[in-house]
Amino acid sequence: MKSQDIRSKFLSFFKEKQHTIVSSAPMVLKDDPTLMFVNSGMAPFKEYFLGNAQPKSNRITDTQKCLRVSGKHNDLEEVGYDTYHHTLFEMLGNWSFGDYFKKEAIAWSWELLTEVFGIDKDILYVTVFEGSKDDNLEMDNEAYDLWKQFVSEDRILKGNKKDNFWEMGDQGPCGPCSEIHVDIRSAEEKAKVSGKDLVNMDHPQVVEIWNLVFMQYNRKANGSLESLPNKHIDTGMGFERLCMVLQGVQSNYDTDVFTPIIKEVETITNKNYGTDEKIDVAIRVISDHVRAVAFSIADGQLPSNTGAGYVIRRILRRAVRYGFTFLDKKEPFIYRLVDILSKKMGTAFPELKAQKQLIENVIKEEEQSFLRTLDQGLILLNRIVEETKGDTVSGEKAFELYDTYGFPIDLTALILSEKGLKLDEEGFNKELEKQKKRSRAASEMTTDDWTILHNDAEEEFVGYDTLEANVKLTRYRKVTSKKDGEMYQLVFNLTPFYAEGGGQVGDKGYLEDAHGDVVYILDTKKENNVIIHFTKNLPNDINKSFKAVVDAKQRYRTECNHTATHLLHQALREVLGTHVEQKGSAVHSKYLRFDFSHFSKLTVEELRDVENFVNRRIEGKLPLIEKRNIPKEEAIADGAMSLFGEKYGDTVRAIRFGQSVELCGGTHVKNTGDIWHFKIVSEGAVAAGIRRIEAITNDAVKDFYFENNRAYFEMKDLLNNAQEPVKALQNLQEENTSLKKQIEVLLKDKAKNIKGELKSELQEVNGIQFLAKKLDLDASGIKDVAFELGSQFENLFLLFGAEQNGKALLSCYISKELVASKGLNAGLVVRELGKYIQGGGGGQPFFATAGGKNPDGIDEALEKAKTYLT
Ligand code: ATP
Ligand code: MG
Repeated sequence: MKSQDIRSKFLSFFKEKQHTIVSSAPMVLKDDPTLMFVNSGMAPFKEYFLGNAQPKSNRITDTQKCLRVSGKHNDLEEVGYDTYHHTLFEMLGNWSFGDYFKKEAIAWSWELLTEVFGIDKDILYVTVFEGSKDDNLEMDNEAYDLWKQFVSEDRILKGNKKDNFWEMGDQGPCGPCSEIHVDIRSAEEKAKVSGKDLVNMDHPQVVEIWNLVFMQYNRKANGSLESLPNKHIDTGMGFERLCMVLQGVQSNYDTDVFTPIIKEVETITNKNYGTDEKIDVAIRVISDHVRAVAFSIADGQLPSNTGAGYVIRRILRRAVRYGFTFLDKKEPFIYRLVDILSKKMGTAFPELKAQKQLIENVIKEEEQSFLRTLDQGLILLNRIVEETKGDTVSGEKAFELYDTYGFPIDLTALILSEKGLKLDEEGFNKELEKQKKRSRAASEMTTDDWTILHNDAEEEFVGYDTLEANVKLTRYRKVTSKKDGEMYQLVFNLTPFYAEGGGQVGDKGYLEDAHGDVVYILDTKKENNVIIHFTKNLPNDINKSFKAVVDAKQRYRTECNHTATHLLHQALREVLGTHVEQKGSAVHSKYLRFDFSHFSKLTVEELRDVENFVNRRIEGKLPLIEKRNIPKEEAIADGAMSLFGEKYGDTVRAIRFGQSVELCGGTHVKNTGDIWHFKIVSEGAVAAGIRRIEAITNDAVKDFYFENNRAYFEMKDLLNNAQEPVKALQNLQEENTSLKKQIEVLLKDKAKNIKGELKSELQEVNGIQFLAKKLDLDASGIKDVAFELGSQFENLFLLFGAEQNGKALLSCYISKELVASKGLNAGLVVRELGKYIQGGGGGQPFFATAGGKNPDGIDEALEKAKTYLT
């Protein structure tokens, strides 16, 4: 069975069981501070498990893009070495939100695997939770009894908390689980060792394929468990592993999910898969990682230097490094795999097809830049090797190479071993640990449990219509971090505060009680669909109601910028073409930033056209036409574009100003005329094929013109109120250049005169022509003079001192014959005499200079020069 059919068979099986099929959520998470990427099928549904929102259906089925490369689930180092862990993989799932529970979940999983997919029962094992003393939990007898109906008891294994108790994080919904494992070894192997003994033992052919989680508890901050009022089912089956079983192969990489990519790698690199273990690992790494990186870029997460972008950059670099070392690829090639990937997966994941060109550009540029890093790293590593005494290279140096230059440590180790050298791994690990400690300490945070005051109320956002509301606190908690100290997070029954999202910053403002006591709200953010207000203190009486007031000025400026962002988006598509797509935005009160796909730098004319386009719509005073809670299809028919990487609900909000229509949850001015004016302040590149514009509106534009005007008048003032200041400035510059030239000539003349004088001052001491004197020349003047004299006299010993800008300079010239015959050394002379001017220097035996900070010492240094003549 082809992988495509396997995927759709899974989904249609659960559709028949009254599940609604939903598409995969974007892989990069936006409103969950505990998680960077979706790492399991349940992550996008957290808000339902936490009871913060209602799903549209209480039975859902899907395939979810998951990435396990950071945090609690991190399989990155395994990938390539084993045959069944990936960075990016698909997790097939069926979900019950407070609907069916263990009985149906177990029966259906068995029906699907053994009857629909026809997997032989004799290769399957299941596990149940054995209980845990720590948590005071008994064995999951319920699940055991249910499994007994289908599976012989010798194939039902008991598992511990690590394998059979699933937790979302340190806190939150959790519960026991049952895993289904397959044993796909040969009969011969099976006869030797029973599969029973290999379950959960990291055997590549005895692997877990499906995990059924029975979500029935909530883990509190103090570690204790409480029962959930609603019980849920969360299952996750590894799609690639299922394909391996159904296609009768021994490795995920031998399924049709991977073979086309591997073939392409073979063609490009001229290496064969399946001949040499090192090459095989490299090919698996590359075939896996290109998927993770391509899907991430398609979801709007580009490689970068921080956060999620940095994780993606590291994955791509790992692939480049394996290609570089084991497949001899010294030029970019991974981007060339995107074509086949998008052909094979573009139907199930249209974002790959739509953004193919962009994905290729970004990957290619990243590859190029990392290959340059590798080249540079190799040079630096050679230098380190040269400086190394003995046979062990310092861990500190290797760490610096790794940390500052991004040079992979395993590559360092490999190169050193080829040179017969050792790496001080302990030293390296020490440095790494130190760095980890530093960043852990910076991000350390403790989160208390919520204190619930009112359980029933669902928080309502009223901030589109009003900036003030009477609110009640429904829950709060304390959060302590190194960065912000103690903070409180407050949730209300309703709120006018907009939570950071869709690029727009969160509102600031205050809470006021009946006595006029005020608590400031410093920021507003969304977490798993709950609007959280950040404060330094709790209000005095938490049970009373408060007036919640949004900072109107900040909100208004932000709204000007948000509406301008929409107009800018429209303008760019109009002026540059419809290939322009939004790739990120940041809407602040002071400025806006907009990233978009476009292949070249904008010309001055294009920038002016874009600016004019936006300003014409501002002058046109277009009213806001807002449609809330309309079906997404209706908004799309209206002309709105949905963006890849955004998670939309079933109903959306559409914002129209004239011909600009966008799906948007942000806040906007009532009329474009409110924006007053729009001004672009910068344009540049953020990545291959991605440009960034920064712009300002309204008050910021006024400030901008005011400041520019002020600078202009100050400049004009300095130019004696010249009628044409630019011309006056040019004149000044020209005058300055010609003055500089004149000075040069004068200085040369001066040096010539001095030379004449100096000749007559030479003394003969012990057959040496000697002179020590302070001169009023700069360093290059002195050098000229010394060399001139040197060409006219033999056996010359000159020491010149000079004072310039409060600093001291010593220059020593010794004829080459003297250097040879008397063993004199100018470098040594200036180094020794340098102490009188509190400085140092050096040079060659016949000419050297020293600089110092004590001009008062020059005379003494000159005085001492004679001592070298004896
Ligand atoms: P394993 O022990 O094999 O790492 P797991 O216990 O981490 O698996 P779960 O977190 O229960 O797995 O995820 C559910 C299913 O997702 C697994 O049964 C497996 O089929 C699949 N899966 C998990 N991690 C990966 C991965 N890195 N690559 C591919 N599939 C995976
Ligand atoms: Mg795992």
